[in-house]
Amino acid sequence: MSKEILFLEPVFTHNIWGGTKLREEYNYNIEGDDIGECWGVAAHDNGNCKIQNGSNAGKTLAELWKDSHELFGDAAGERFPLLIKIIDAKDDLSIQVHPDDTYAAEHENGSFGKMECWYILDCQNDSSLVIGHNARDKKELEDMIENKRWSDLIREIPVKKGDFIQIDPGTVHAIKGGITILETQQNSDITYRVYDYDRLSDGKPRQLHIKQSMDVITVPAKPVADSVIHVNDSAANELVKLIQCQYYQVFKLNVKGEASITQDYPFFIMSVVEGSGSVDGQPVKKGTHFILPFGYGTAVFTGDMEIIASTV
Ligand code: ZN
Repeated sequence: MSKEILFLEPVFTHNIWGGTKLREEYNYNIEGDDIGECWGVAAHDNGNCKIQNGSNAGKTLAELWKDSHELFGDAAGERFPLLIKIIDAKDDLSIQVHPDDTYAAEHENGSFGKMECWYILDCQNDSSLVIGHNARDKKELEDMIENKRWSDLIREIPVKKGDFIQIDPGTVHAIKGGITILETQQNSDITYRVYDYDRLSDGKPRQLHIKQSMDVITVPAKPVADSVIHVNDSAANELVKLIQCQYYQVFKLNVKGEASITQDYPFFIMSVVEGSGSVDGQPVKKGTHFILPFGYGTAVFTGDMEIIASTV
């Protein structure tokens, strides 16, 4: 029995660092020149995607998780576990850090912490990201933050299109201007801002979270080599695993002509990030997000496209 594919209606955020790529390059119908994030697959109070098609049209992903859980097999938890975003950073994002589950549960009303990973969709030739910091111990970290020694603190690394980066809770990080990424993350929206380049939003600086940041930042930072994965892009028509951690598995699928993929996970999230084609006869293109539900079986993909897929 082949179940219905769940196609999702994304939700968007406007941000001081956002741009216009999500409309111009990803085909989304969203106005404004400050569009920072497309939440392509989300079941969160701050953004809850609706199903576009079939017998579940108009329902939210959070409703399905609660009322039609058979679509997600034995995946456990009160909330849908993952959140998928496409982020267009026209300008630098704030230097930030996320808590882990334990800290978030205690300090953020039972929220999840946030493990996240980035697939670099596009960037300029000399792009860099902030991953980690240079403080050797807690005392040095405090001194660098309290005395605004930002260039001493921040560790920037060069990146290129197609790189994949895992960001543990407690890792200082920031996306720099000019970079577009697909983010796979725990279903959480807790961010502690360490430094925001002294920018103003509506005439005033955005709130910083220095105490929480000091509480959760991992010292010393993990070596860069443990965070950045250079993806071998050559395989076509098969799932290439980018990472497996306790919260998610992420894959890349290059469709060239035709690919048959068996869905035997609790659910399988897919985001088309380049090109176009079809899945079991239904047209999809750059910017389409969908879920193959539990027990879907084999899906046949045709066309010329790149997909980032994930599951628990
Ligand atoms: Zn983050």
